[in-house]
Amino acid sequence: MTAHFRFDNTYAALPDRFFRRTSPSDVPAPRLMRLNRPLAAELGLDPDWLASPDGVAVLAGKQVPEGAIPIATAYAGHQFGHFVPQLGDGRAILLGEVVGRDGVRRDIQLKGSGRTPFSRQGDGKAALGPVLREFVVSEAMAALGIPTTRALAAVLTGEPVRREALLPGAVLTRVAKSHIRIGTFQFFAAREDRDGIRTLADYVIGRHYPDAQAAEAPYRALLDRVIARQADLVARWLLVGFIHGVMNTDNMSVAGETIDYGPCAFMDAYDPAAVFSSIDQHGRYAYANQPRIALWNLARLSETLLPLLAAEESAAIAVAEEALRAFPPQFEGAFQAGLRRKLGLAAEREGDIELAQDLLGAMAANQADFTLTFRRLSDAAADPAGDLRVRTLFADPAAYDGWAARWRGRLGEEGRDPAAVRDAMRAVNPAFIPRNHRIEAAIQAGLRDDFGPFEELISVLSRPFEDQPDRAAYMEPPLPDERVRQTFCGT
Ligand code: AMP
Ligand code: MG
Repeated sequence: MTAHFRFDNTYAALPDRFFRRTSPSDVPAPRLMRLNRPLAAELGLDPDWLASPDGVAVLAGKQVPEGAIPIATAYAGHQFGHFVPQLGDGRAILLGEVVGRDGVRRDIQLKGSGRTPFSRQGDGKAALGPVLREFVVSEAMAALGIPTTRALAAVLTGEPVRREALLPGAVLTRVAKSHIRIGTFQFFAAREDRDGIRTLADYVIGRHYPDAQAAEAPYRALLDRVIARQADLVARWLLVGFIHGVMNTDNMSVAGETIDYGPCAFMDAYDPAAVFSSIDQHGRYAYANQPRIALWNLARLSETLLPLLAAEESAAIAVAEEALRAFPPQFEGAFQAGLRRKLGLAAEREGDIELAQDLLGAMAANQADFTLTFRRLSDAAADPAGDLRVRTLFADPAAYDGWAARWRGRLGEEGRDPAAVRDAMRAVNPAFIPRNHRIEAAIQAGLRDDFGPFEELISVLSRPFEDQPDRAAYMEPPLPDERVRQTFCGT
């Protein structure tokens, strides 16, 4: 077999205790559901080969490609605030790393390819529904410009998996800048393995933050950079109405990508307290809690780095605290700048954030659809006749009118060309998001072996900022009987 992946595996070269060697499980009848051809090309892979029977056998875990060193990585993590000293890849296997055309090294991982040494009671497999969900949502996030892991392929295995019922088994090929999580650092900290932490920190600096190497205090610089990327990431989530759903420390990538799409959701009506995950009973991971939780998780990361931050523990704690204090202003700065862009405001004026908050408050009080409000507001910026289409989104349309007058006044102060304001707003306020009811419909059709809706959804979401008149129905929020109130991990 010729080498179809030019693997260059660095994680597998780390000390043995970082991972366990393992192999994907054989499956009876692999079948390709979807190949992400543009992504394959970016990674320097041959899409035609990947779609061939040999390629599909690799994507299903039936065949280990040349050059791969399949491993399950070790990690720990706080799950809903409770520390679990050993988790690890229980249903994911890292095949290896490839360096893409952009020069960036990325992991190629099979998710759902069978048991690993970290599977505990689980079967290591994935059902069709969660695989389709992750494919759709991660690719939608990428198209929205939000850092995320990617989906290279989804295959059916031909083997049923037992969940609440017997469901078709599937494997997702996930691509990530790396799969190193805050929980990976916690794994070594929990074992008081200082060499392990240092080795991991050096590896993360080398792979993700090479400029930290030259800093006066490289480990502090590493912490600063992870904090900054996470602050920016969570701000971006909030600006599109995304709720991750399970922000455990093992689900937070130190590379700053959105990772582990389980019970995630985009909200329809704006509600800061929105929670969709069936297992998040106390709303720990509610929409508006996400910045606070990110900071909590980063505090857990900083604890693992204490031995590297200073010789004395008290001094190290002071360094960590100082680093963490940067999070709130970084998050607020990114979020507020994003809100200004969503409202078409180019300059920074006092009162802008109040103006934005007042709109959000009115939206919450009137169950206004988050995505449609901002999209239609974009058009209203160029033509006040567009107000009609915004105000109908509010339970009490009058709640919009007073605010709209203030907003117009503020826009007028800038004196920019209304069409340019509209275009700038349309470039940040998407028309299309992966709405829950559409994902659910795509999954239900997939279970009937009809992948048409899945394909169409992916296609619509690949151009979220463009009007697609023939696909306008995908902009609509669910009808009352289409509403999805809960999402599930599907593990
Ligand atoms: P998650 O909720 O996806 O972040 O997973 C939490 C932990 O449970 C990770 O260590 C997973 O590898 C493990 N896990 C989840 N589902 C399964 C499964 N079906 N089989 C084995 N391990 C699993
Ligand atoms: Mg996880």
